Amino acid sequence: MKLPHTGRALADAAPVPYWLDRPERPDPLPPLTGTHTADLLVVGGGYAGLWTALLAKQADPARDVLLVDAGTCGWAASGRNGGFCAASLTHGLANGVDRFPGEIDELERLGRENLDGIAATVAEHGIDCDFERTGELAVAVKPHQLAGLAEDAELARRYGHDVRLLDRDEVRAEVDSPTYLGGMWDRDRVAMLDPAKLAWGLRRACLDLGVRIHEHTRVTGLRRDGGALLATAGGADAAPGSVRARQVALATNAFPPLLRRLRAWLVPVYDYALMTEPLTPEQRKAIGWENRQGLADTGNQFHYYRITADGRILFGGYDAVYHYGNRIAPELEQRTATFTALAEHFHATFPQLEGLRFSHRWGGVIDTCTRFCPFFGTAYEGRLAYTAGFTGLGVGATRFGARVMLDLLGGEETPLTRLDLVRSKPLPFPPEPLRAAGINLTRWSLARADAHEGRRNLWLRTLDRLGLGFDS
Ligand SMILES: Cc1cc2nc3c(=O)[nH]c(=O)nc-3n(C[C@H](O)[C@H](O)[C@H](O)COP(=O)(O)OP(=O)(O)OC[C@H]3O[C@@H](n4cnc5c(N)ncnc54)[C@H](O)[C@@H]3O)c2cc1C
Repeated sequence: MKLPHTGRALADAAPVPYWLDRPERPDPLPPLTGTHTADLLVVGGGYAGLWTALLAKQADPARDVLLVDAGTCGWAASGRNGGFCAASLTHGLANGVDRFPGEIDELERLGRENLDGIAATVAEHGIDCDFERTGELAVAVKPHQLAGLAEDAELARRYGHDVRLLDRDEVRAEVDSPTYLGGMWDRDRVAMLDPAKLAWGLRRACLDLGVRIHEHTRVTGLRRDGGALLATAGGADAAPGSVRARQVALATNAFPPLLRRLRAWLVPVYDYALMTEPLTPEQRKAIGWENRQGLADTGNQFHYYRITADGRILFGGYDAVYHYGNRIAPELEQRTATFTALAEHFHATFPQLEGLRFSHRWGGVIDTCTRFCPFFGTAYEGRLAYTAGFTGLGVGATRFGARVMLDLLGGEETPLTRLDLVRSKPLPFPPEPLRAAGINLTRWSLARADAHEGRRNLWLRTLDRLGLGFDS
């Protein structure tokens, strides 16, 4: 049903990510020109690359670290996400228990340590990113989802999480939506933060420690050059130049990878979000939300939403859109059908907020892999390390990915490089046209399962058995 006010609510929404559309955005640093050398070249200035550069410098201030980004640091997923910073390294506990039963205790401990490490860096470097450890409230909006929540709560308690199961009245006392039937509040393993300000703050901290950063510099090729690697930068939107680096960390997320082998493991998937105008005190009162948790409903096609420091609501998710041939393009960041659906779902969730308008609408690309959590590896006789595959839950886990890349480049076995998570790889996606056909059949099946009390059809059950999947 199309609500009459949806069009009006979206009419003035700017087609850009809210987080990046603010005066705090730093001026770009000059592109790389000429020939350079470095101990460590980091390719990509999202969280994964920025954490790699920062942690490398913290460990060894004398290491000469150079970071380049094809755009500006944080312009891509890192500056436009929901800002849910989760401790989980495995895209949730259940996925981790399924895939890494032998080491999930250790992964949970490392995830917790990772989130604490992010909080410590934010405090140490004075990164003003509105970091609030308010947890995440998962809500059931259909009766069949209640049993799932109870199972999740039991599993989470078994691993020592501080969770509360809430009945309908209790969840509505936290955040008031007539659609809520129950909830599970995981109280300290997720923090809410301002994603772009985290990226900009990490960039600032890198510069303060002496990392050299060049923006609008796309690496177009990598090859061996004696005992080092030579990265060339060029193309229409980048200056000509090159870097001869002893080691390279590849942190290019869903973008066309510089290593051919990564293509089979990654698909770029578009995820979309809306931001409202700031709520008035009366509107805030009408929904409660005093504890400022992140919220997510629990269907396969789920929404995630949260309140910002200045009292807006970010509402995203639901659709996860793949374009044939791994296509990534600026025009794909806008999708009217998805924005209309999100606006309708927002108003159905909070009918009390009728009349509230959206100020921004945007999309961004996610590096989905078949196991939903990051993978790692090396190339060029261990001179290059990579991490990718965060599948929509990389705000926190990218720092762990950076630690792993640095350990891999160190060349010695460490507790991190011994992990099965680090040594194993996801199952590959098939080539086109099977890739698009499989993804679209999976999307259709997931939507159908949501409409039929969560019942998974033969296709989904087969994928489950093979340990394959598609998610955002
Ligand atoms: C709409 C949306 C909502 C999300 N919400 C959440 C959330 O709430 N919680 C969560 O945990 N995760 C979320 N995510 C996912 C999260 O944002 C990512 O997992 C994370 O930011 C990945 O960081 P990254 O550094 O790997 O990638 P990116 O931030 O994408 O950075 C990669 C960088 O590499 C650069 N690059 C690529 N190729 C080259 C090249 N050849 N040369 C030079 N530079 C290159 C790009 O310019 C880019 O800046 C969301 C993502 C989206 C899109």
